[in-house]
Amino acid sequence: MRPIPEPLICSLGHVATTAEFARRGYEARDIRLAIQAGVIRRASRGVYLCRHADADQLTAAAAHARITCLSALRRAGVWAGLDQSLHLQLPPNSHSARRPVRDRDDRSIHYHWAPVKFDRAPRKSWLVDPIEAVWQAIHCLDEEHAVACLESAVHEKFLTEQEVRRIGANAPRHLQRGIREMEFTSDSGQETIARRRLRRIGFHVVAQEKISGLPYSEDLVVDDCVALETDGKKWHGPERFEPDRQRDVVLAGFGRVSLRLTQRMILHEWPSTLAAIERAVRDAKRTR
Ligand SMILES: [Zn+2]
Ligand SMILES: [Zn+2]
Repeated sequence: MRPIPEPLICSLGHVATTAEFARRGYEARDIRLAIQAGVIRRASRGVYLCRHADADQLTAAAAHARITCLSALRRAGVWAGLDQSLHLQLPPNSHSARRPVRDRDDRSIHYHWAPVKFDRAPRKSWLVDPIEAVWQAIHCLDEEHAVACLESAVHEKFLTEQEVRRIGANAPRHLQRGIREMEFTSDSGQETIARRRLRRIGFHVVAQEKISGLPYSEDLVVDDCVALETDGKKWHGPERFEPDRQRDVVLAGFGRVSLRLTQRMILHEWPSTLAAIERAVRDAKRTR
């Protein structure tokens, strides 16, 4: 008899099943010993957690479900839109009766029963494989966020470009145009969204344009005269304060107007943000 060691369950992602323990040579009594020693606790029949498991894992384990879709993407830093509910995948033949509709933090729970689309055995008992998670997400998101999610999946190295193309080939019709127009240049979902919205209304937008002689590129350049920084992850933190200001001044020296847009400006205040961009482009053209 040997109780299950904590590093083992940690290596499995802080959630493990009886079957996973059995494959590593541990029996029911080893599980009992580990519970008595406080190393693991039982979440539901045949599912165990260590003390590092987070709230999503707890809810998923209690429901015998895997974390999927937007919730799986968010764990990997992939764009998942604005919906903050917990997305879980139940085994194909499980019943829907008496499933909780909200988690402990009062977030709503969205269940998927979708059969597996891409034949890949999941590597974790509690988490859906990346390609499946993205496949489900593009069905849960609207067109704009779905395309941003696909670009982001590649940018965050969650999927390869080839895997995203495979998903794209099977994706619903309303996504096909956006999928054809994908560029894997964006640092963030909001950058993808801003780029596509501006192009749709006729602006010429170039992504990640390098200014010759300078060590950095601009997220988006509109009509070759106004630069947009879309305030993705790379801009967070006080260490960015000085370099960001320096960059603004250098760009001004090149005669380039630069606007720094936050997520809120793009996703929640777009009409006034667009009006400011249009004005900046008009003024820049006139000055020329
Ligand atoms: Zn752990
Ligand atoms: Zn979903």
